[in-house]
Amino acid sequence: MNEDQQISKNLKTVLAEIDKAWSLSRNSLTNRMQVPSTPLSPPALVAVSKRQSSTRVDACLRAGQRVFGENRVQEAKERWSSKKREYKDLKLHLIGKLQTNKVHDAVEFFDVIEVVDRFKLAERLSIEMTKQNKNLPCFVQVNTGEEPQKSGIFPGEVDEFIEFCRKECKLNVTGLMCIPPFHEETAMHFSLLREIALRHGLPNLSMGMSRDYREAITFGSTSVRIGTAVFGER
Ligand SMILES: *Cc1c(COP(=O)(O)O)cnc(C)c1O
Repeated sequence: MNEDQQISKNLKTVLAEIDKAWSLSRNSLTNRMQVPSTPLSPPALVAVSKRQSSTRVDACLRAGQRVFGENRVQEAKERWSSKKREYKDLKLHLIGKLQTNKVHDAVEFFDVIEVVDRFKLAERLSIEMTKQNKNLPCFVQVNTGEEPQKSGIFPGEVDEFIEFCRKECKLNVTGLMCIPPFHEETAMHFSLLREIALRHGLPNLSMGMSRDYREAITFGSTSVRIGTAVFGER
């Protein structure tokens, strides 16, 4: 199998698995009771193209995928600037830590900012959205495992932070994002994120990566960020 065929096959498999996990959670009565927010359509696939070769990314585009996630602003601009002109329906999500000095470029370049995780950043995003006359959908990143090395607002601060983003900064907060600790059961983290979203009436949950997206979907994920399972190892 050549690279094109492999990636097209991976993509089909992942989309089928997403559908399957979503139907299962919709149809199970226990889950219907536990998950009042079970989404009405299957979760969106954000194909995480960071550090993947351009031949793999091109193969994925040829296979029809249009939503991609990148974790660095500069790398994303290099890869996607020309493709954005070619593919008008591309949607790019920023999923990696955003430094305040990159906010201008991030707002200019991305369609969704998934990593709003601190007060200073929310303020800078707000100023930049106004300047560029944009109101990009934003996700608040929650550090559900309170890991010091990881980005994300801690659960204890999240209520105040969401209010701040919405009321003071007028950011278009549409959901929450998390990356559970690597060595822990993910269930607790996914259900915590869902609880916070329900409490704030936020419709979107960005949770689930290659190794845990099926489980994330049973907890009501509305978009999964998948790199390895689509493109292969980085
Ligand atoms: C790299 C990355 C992913 C994709 O991880 P895979 O294990 O390759 O699916 C998802 N989310 C974030 C925030 C990432 O940095």
